[in-house]
Amino acid sequence: MKKETKCIHSGYQPKNGESRMIPIIQSTTFKYDTSEDMGKLFDLEAEGYFYTRLQNPTTDYVAKKIADLEGGTAAMLTSSGQAANFFSIFNIAQAGDHVVASSSIYGGSFNLFNVTMRKMGIEFTFVDPDCSDEELEKAFKPNTKAVFGETIANPALIVFDIERFANVAHKHGVPLIVDNTFATPINCRPFEWGADIVTHSTTKYLDGHDATVGGCIVDSGKFDWMAHKNKFPGLTTPDESYHGITYATKFGKEGAFITKATAQLMRDFGATAAPMNAYLLNLGIESLAVRVERHCQNAQKVAEFLEKNDKVAWVNYPGLKGNKYYERAQKYMPNGTCGVISFGIKGGRKKAEEFMKHLNVVMIATHVADARTCILHPASSTHRQLTDEELIKGGVAPDLVRLSVGIENVEDIIEDVKGALSYV
Ligand SMILES: *Cc1c(COP(=O)(O)O)cnc(C)c1O
Repeated sequence: MKKETKCIHSGYQPKNGESRMIPIIQSTTFKYDTSEDMGKLFDLEAEGYFYTRLQNPTTDYVAKKIADLEGGTAAMLTSSGQAANFFSIFNIAQAGDHVVASSSIYGGSFNLFNVTMRKMGIEFTFVDPDCSDEELEKAFKPNTKAVFGETIANPALIVFDIERFANVAHKHGVPLIVDNTFATPINCRPFEWGADIVTHSTTKYLDGHDATVGGCIVDSGKFDWMAHKNKFPGLTTPDESYHGITYATKFGKEGAFITKATAQLMRDFGATAAPMNAYLLNLGIESLAVRVERHCQNAQKVAEFLEKNDKVAWVNYPGLKGNKYYERAQKYMPNGTCGVISFGIKGGRKKAEEFMKHLNVVMIATHVADARTCILHPASSTHRQLTDEELIKGGVAPDLVRLSVGIENVEDIIEDVKGALSYV
């Protein structure tokens, strides 16, 4: 199946007389005839469901669909993108371990790694995604367990050189984890470029309607844990907390990572996706291919309009020919990048605030990547406690406006932006 068809049909195929839509199995628990039957599930000897904190049929249908779209072998849904990124690393790194991460990632992920996971004893080295080979090599340590980056960084819109980072990660015997939230599997499939694990905040384009917070982890099934047995004892030696199972030998390359994350991390942390949310997420994914195409077409037109407007100081969109990442975007996502643009208004912070007061179709919201066009001025909202000097140091210019272009008629969006610009 092609990606558009997978959006509709992957993950769930009804049998004779069954519902065409995935059923919402809104049940905490599942009934068995004998204790032996249930015992087999607990021992991971048989497939099935016993408690929704670990697994549920509705969430599994949707996870399978995302796995298929990414070209992976297994996937799990999580309650949020934050939980997905946390699990993706904590599944293979523990206190005393180290991770190399791109410095240009979502602020929530940066905080999770730099503050909270550090408190858990995991050390991070952040590297500029455009650093030299020498700098990248220098970041690795004997206890490095993974490399992490974002396909298109939120909000910097830097396109990640997946192939290069995958090669270096593999040279050091560790997997590359890529957060593919902004590109989506419609525009880029990181596994095709050597990534081993993909994560998503499904809250963004996958859901696409500002309806559900959620996340997903997908395994490519390609990383050979047993070939690096000593680096990944959690996967390659018996889990005494789970009946002495060795995930890598029992479930192979294709299933070990997700089975461990489910049996161990979901069991203990419980960051579970609700069946109802999975159902809503699936509705979003059915139209993903159509929506992403329109998001990109609209964003391209809006970016080109902004570039020509004399009130606008600068525009950052990887689909623009003059953009620093244009060539790299052409390599990794030739059909389009994403719907998010950042730009600056001449006159800085005050003018940006004034501009936003006059918008009507475009809504002010701390969100990106859904059907409705929305906008945020970090300097007067999420980053308002910082001075202009601090903002610049943190890579968020005082005049920076982040515009997430939706799927309305692009003429209405441009008209609205043009009208508001006339006030500044
Ligand atoms: C929003 C976002 C996250 C966090 O996801 P939540 O669903 O809000 O927890 C992680 N990564 C990226 C790239 C994001 O945009």
